[in-house]
Amino acid sequence: MANPLYRDTAVVLRTYRLGEADRIVVLLTEHHGKVRAVAKGVRKTTSRFGARLEPLSHVRLLLYQGRELDIVSQAESVETLAPLVVDLDHLTSGLAMLEAVDQMTMEREPVPHVYRMLVGALRTVATRSGALVVPAFYWKLLASEGVRPELDVCVRCGDEGPLVALDVAEGGTLCRACRTGVPITPAALDVMRMILGGRMNEALATAPGAVTHEVAAHATRALEHHLERRLRTVAMFESHG
Ligand SMILES: [Zn+2]
Repeated sequence: MANPLYRDTAVVLRTYRLGEADRIVVLLTEHHGKVRAVAKGVRKTTSRFGARLEPLSHVRLLLYQGRELDIVSQAESVETLAPLVVDLDHLTSGLAMLEAVDQMTMEREPVPHVYRMLVGALRTVATRSGALVVPAFYWKLLASEGVRPELDVCVRCGDEGPLVALDVAEGGTLCRACRTGVPITPAALDVMRMILGGRMNEALATAPGAVTHEVAAHATRALEHHLERRLRTVAMFESHG
């Protein structure tokens, strides 16, 4: 057997209790994908891990590979994302991102691009707030999974518009004649083009209001649609496998 010890950096996605003193930490690692590991004694006040294994922690780890659960052997902080944890808005945004990543990733399937995207987004959240930080992250996460909506023409007839609706099941925007899904305003469409077209700073500068609400609603709907479809696919494989 290969050396069961390995090093990686990770963001703690969530934790849950295991027995009296231990905790299971769900990690998105840079090179090993999502990993579930036991942190022994972490709930004792004298724990050698301190508070380094809380959700949102960015840590460098030494792990021992187990059959089902790995074991955290060492953990040190890579950086402190403290502003995240002291400000409730920032904290809520950070936790929403962790949840989306947890739902979008499979165990032990390396997704270094998602890891990098998450670390970048958490740094953004730690330094600036904004109504679109989380929705923009959802869209980028979906795009990284190959779910990038068409926003320039009607997905059904190819017409350039005006584009008046967004249907995530159809894969993008629709013209007046073909419209299904939900209405989309020209302003929200502009912001979505900024997010997915590499003009993130411009998008994040959008003043909070009707447009940011609308973009957030589209992003949540798209993420939920993708997750439901994936759950159905997994269920189908399991029942036929
Ligand atoms: Zn059309």
